[in-house]
Amino acid sequence: MSAIAEPTSPHVMNTYGRLPIALSHGQGCRVWDTNGRVYLDGLGGIAVNTLGHNHPELVPALQDQIAKLIHSSNYYHVPGQEQLAAKLTELSGLTNAFFCSTGLEANEAALKLARKFGHDKGIERPEIVVYEAAFHGRSIATLSATGNPKVQKGFGPLVEGFIRVPLNDIEAIKKATEGNPNVVAVFFETIQGEGGIHPMRIEYLKQVRALCDERDWLLMIDEVQCGMGRTGKWFAHQWAGIKPDVMPLAKGLGSGVPIGAVVAGPKAANIFGPGNHGTTFGGNPLAMRAGVETIRIMEEHKLLENAANVGAHLKAALEREFEGLAGLKEVRGQGLMLGIELDRPCGVILNRACEAGLLLSVTADSVIRLVPPLILSVAEADEIVAILAPLVKTFLAEPKP
Ligand SMILES: *Cc1c(COP(=O)(O)O)cnc(C)c1O
Repeated sequence: MSAIAEPTSPHVMNTYGRLPIALSHGQGCRVWDTNGRVYLDGLGGIAVNTLGHNHPELVPALQDQIAKLIHSSNYYHVPGQEQLAAKLTELSGLTNAFFCSTGLEANEAALKLARKFGHDKGIERPEIVVYEAAFHGRSIATLSATGNPKVQKGFGPLVEGFIRVPLNDIEAIKKATEGNPNVVAVFFETIQGEGGIHPMRIEYLKQVRALCDERDWLLMIDEVQCGMGRTGKWFAHQWAGIKPDVMPLAKGLGSGVPIGAVVAGPKAANIFGPGNHGTTFGGNPLAMRAGVETIRIMEEHKLLENAANVGAHLKAALEREFEGLAGLKEVRGQGLMLGIELDRPCGVILNRACEAGLLLSVTADSVIRLVPPLILSVAEADEIVAILAPLVKTFLAEPKP
């Protein structure tokens, strides 16, 4: 974020640069602010509101669940956990799931799995390969895995045991781990979200999978942002025809209800035993119902196809608008996870788009990010382009700051 931010609230901690609006309600891909202004939602609560707002099938299901049971605790069996785990393993080809409430918690569980995987085979000081520009969350361990000095600044000492490498360079990972017997896992996002919509190449994904098999490392793929249908497959790594050993999920999994999951294949599914890991809220009946219904509705309404088709339409339209435009570096991404990189910091686009009735975000300073609900229609995609293209052109015609 940057540019215009509201004055600090007297009581809420000042951790976010906020736009000067508050949303009151939504319908589909539209949201209204407390002054009655309507916006087209190109952000979906940061890739969270998979089904948009006030979905006619999700809302009654959640209301039904709230009236029955919101929370029970992991002292007891939770049938919804069985149901959602069965669905997630079916969709991913993996075998077991653990449930939590956020993305960083899912990643934290993955990091613990990797360390115990190492300890179980006698590695006392396990090390995990992570990537430049990665984002994995803001707990002490996940911010240590994150490849952004801004996120880390002021919070040292960082957690040790990470080896950082550049994206899409198989020689670099081989070199960085050469002769190191302590490596236990490789951990990355298939498409980096916060880092600026940087995809791992298909060929590279296959190469890393092969390297992990060869060296007995866990392949851990953070699909918190790029997963759950956003790219047109359930999980973005599936475009490469590979399977990870560990896959953290969150954001879009509950269509707005807080939920996280770490899904594991045979190599990682039995690393944790009773007492190794847990969380109070994780896997509660309300969150499980949100996950189960989100997936059911996505299947029923063919939202993977929609994400692929409308995303391809949106990307092509943006590319057409911006072709040859000075200062426009690239339109990147897949499905409904798109980034438009400019040659300069462009935080102000966020404010101008908001004023023009479009919600989006700017990440990595110079990348405009679109991660709308997966119900977005072609007409709504065209509307995004109609609002955004003139803003970008005007911005790039101004003198560089
Ligand atoms: C958002 C995000 C996280 C962190 O999720 P939280 O729910 O904010 O803790 C982790 N990894 C990726 C790839 C993300 O996009």
